[in-house]
Amino acid sequence: MTKLQYAQIIVDVPTMQTNQPYTYVVPESMCETLQIGMRVDVPFGHRHVMGFVVALQATTDLETNKLRYITNLLDLTPVLNAELLQLSDYLADETFAFRISILQTMLPNALRASYERILKIIDDVDADVRDRIFKGLDEIVYQARELNDLDIDTLTKLRRNHKIEVSVNVSSRAKVKTQLAYQVNNDIEFLENEYHDLGAAKKQLELLTFVMGHLGETWVKKSLQEIINVSAATLNQGVSKKWLKKTRVEQLRDPFSMITIKPTMALTLNDEQQNALNQIVASADAQKYQPFLLAGITGSGKTEVYLQAAQHVFDQGKTVLFLVPEIALTPQMVRRVKSRFGTQTAVLHSGLSDGERYDEWRRIERGDVKIVVGARSAVFAPLSHIGLIIVDEEHETTYKQTDNPRYNARDVALWRGKYYQIPVILGSATPSLESRARAQRGVYELLRLTQRAGGAKLPLVEVIDMKATLADGPETNFSDQLKNKLQDRLNRGEQSVLMLNRRGYSSFVMCRDCGFVPRDPDCNLAMTLHMDSHTLKCHYCGHEEPIPTICANCGSKRIRYYGTGTEKVETELAMLFPEARVIRMDQDTTRKKGSMDKMLQKFGNHEADILLGTQMIAKGLDFPDVTLVGVLNADTSLGLPDFHASERTFQLLTQVSGRAGRGKKPGEVLVQTFNPKHYAIAYAKNHDYEGFYKQEMAVRHAGNYAPYYYTVQIQASHVTENETAKQMIQVARWLRARVDEQVIILGPSPKPIAKLRNRYYFQIILKFKHPHELDDLLSELQNRAQKAKNDLRLIIDRDPVSFM
Ligand code: ADP
Ligand code: ZN
Repeated sequence: MTKLQYAQIIVDVPTMQTNQPYTYVVPESMCETLQIGMRVDVPFGHRHVMGFVVALQATTDLETNKLRYITNLLDLTPVLNAELLQLSDYLADETFAFRISILQTMLPNALRASYERILKIIDDVDADVRDRIFKGLDEIVYQARELNDLDIDTLTKLRRNHKIEVSVNVSSRAKVKTQLAYQVNNDIEFLENEYHDLGAAKKQLELLTFVMGHLGETWVKKSLQEIINVSAATLNQGVSKKWLKKTRVEQLRDPFSMITIKPTMALTLNDEQQNALNQIVASADAQKYQPFLLAGITGSGKTEVYLQAAQHVFDQGKTVLFLVPEIALTPQMVRRVKSRFGTQTAVLHSGLSDGERYDEWRRIERGDVKIVVGARSAVFAPLSHIGLIIVDEEHETTYKQTDNPRYNARDVALWRGKYYQIPVILGSATPSLESRARAQRGVYELLRLTQRAGGAKLPLVEVIDMKATLADGPETNFSDQLKNKLQDRLNRGEQSVLMLNRRGYSSFVMCRDCGFVPRDPDCNLAMTLHMDSHTLKCHYCGHEEPIPTICANCGSKRIRYYGTGTEKVETELAMLFPEARVIRMDQDTTRKKGSMDKMLQKFGNHEADILLGTQMIAKGLDFPDVTLVGVLNADTSLGLPDFHASERTFQLLTQVSGRAGRGKKPGEVLVQTFNPKHYAIAYAKNHDYEGFYKQEMAVRHAGNYAPYYYTVQIQASHVTENETAKQMIQVARWLRARVDEQVIILGPSPKPIAKLRNRYYFQIILKFKHPHELDDLLSELQNRAQKAKNDLRLIIDRDPVSFM
């Protein structure tokens, strides 16, 4: 066999210049062990960095005497397989991110190399430095937190004067927990002799008999002692007599204090469910890539279809990847998966410590797990032989990572599905317009569930016109209808959920008399209020106009800022219903880890009458005693400065309506709005997704938005506002000179939240017809931005889910 003595390595130096593999020589000693997907330590410039081996080859065109050697192996087995390495290529192109960032993202935190900096005294230094900072030693690990600024300054100077040296120790943070075990000798002749020579020692006889029945096996001390009743002393004698050898084996931390979950059986499917299952199963059997859009109303039994499809591929010896928007908000989903598939389920939730996550990761990698349930990053679970991928609530924006690398787990799921040639189920009661349109074009297969499965009825939704409430009364968050119904539930001892719609933080103006929201003439988007300049701005195209004092629609003077907070509502609620027990759930009250779980549990135990919360309460909650859901202000999401505004509103209202009447008692939903006739609200009231889809498609078509156009957002930030604006105008000019006229370039304009952490943000929005037509240009732009040393931070976001 030819020796593979050259390795292609992606080094941990995230710059454009290093965004391709570098060639290193594999030292003789590593030739046998080094494999693709392992991490290594390599020299790079004057330092050492971690790198991923992405290819091995026997020859190279490069001048071999100039090549450097790999210094160290960081893994004993590959941490990434061929599939995930290939995926990283695709994702780097797709997200305009560095390959190294993608590779790091795919691994659990514990496997991300941490760099220990070692300080070493190499010349005479002050006694004070040696005693105090170096604690009398020649060498210490640099820990910035333990040093004050003055010390750091001293060290910097010492280094400059070559009194001390800084080196880097590349090590991996992952620590495998081990426990004591014994490996049994497998030399049967030797053991038989021992047996003959053994005297009357009863305990030793027991041990030796066991040993002879388990040649060569490794037994953890604890399990060994559970089977044969021998003391540590006897085991030690076994070791000294060479029957056993002491060793250590890996111990997995078990994060699940296995709450006993009762096993459940498959339900008999109704016709719609059965039809959906049949098609999925047929595609699994045909071993062909097929995305399905499972569009089923809330409570239509999508989950049962997922579970039975999963069971089918398990029977074929394959595995399942199951993505949910957020584990914390879907405890019931997790319970249902576990009740069906037991301990072969791995749940990757955010509550896991790095160590626990790492254990789960290895359990998956070793093939001990059949189904992985998790949120966004679980899409990189190192499963092999995947037979089915499920993306529940496929429309959720949480699937899109908002930091670098800006990948969408839904797209990654589709990529993996294609790689394995398997079915991928995208499920939702309110599919994203993009997905629904793909189903229309036959790219996805559309499967519809139109009835509630358990026989429950969809709740009755009533829309309340807040204009009427405010016309003859003081400013309030509660209409008379809502007050009456809340009182009614309190009297009956039933529970209510109140949602205060607070998507995003932007503010806009709205007329209290007619519900009119000023929109930009070209983009048809709600404009954002800027108090500093006393203007309304469109954040797509930059259009700006003075804040109106008179409503352009009805002439009223009551046109002004619109928005309110949960605390204010809580206060009003306390005044209206002093006897009601209220739980308030928003970003402030759920900041502490686990506090959300506690609140939900409390509400579930009926220790409160009203759950007041932001849109976080719209998802997944299932409380049978909730018979009333109130949406306090449907308009906030309609005022989002984003072309998704109507879609988000429809989704939110549908989801939150799904929270009412889950049990035996029928549910009721009250939606308060100033725009009762808006189509997003009207279709949500009638539970009519298809109707909404058709109308929204027409709106998108007229405005040149997705799914008719692809969108890329270019964001830039700088510490001064002027510089950001100036640079972005140049970027826009540079782009305009290079794209054809079909491409629409909007902006630059300040972002709705223009200033964040002392930096100013501007954006440019590009709209174009063909998915990858601008990729080369955008890569070049990124390259230039990186090289230009002007402290401008440039971000390119494909298909952004938020324009805030
Ligand atoms: P979805 O995921 O579409 O919102 P669920 O899977 O939660 O719907 O189903 C709603 C309820 O209907 C659940 O309580 C579930 O157990 C029940 N259910 C689902 N399928 C069936 C069926 N075929 N027969 C009876 N009950 C069912
Ligand atoms: Zn505009």
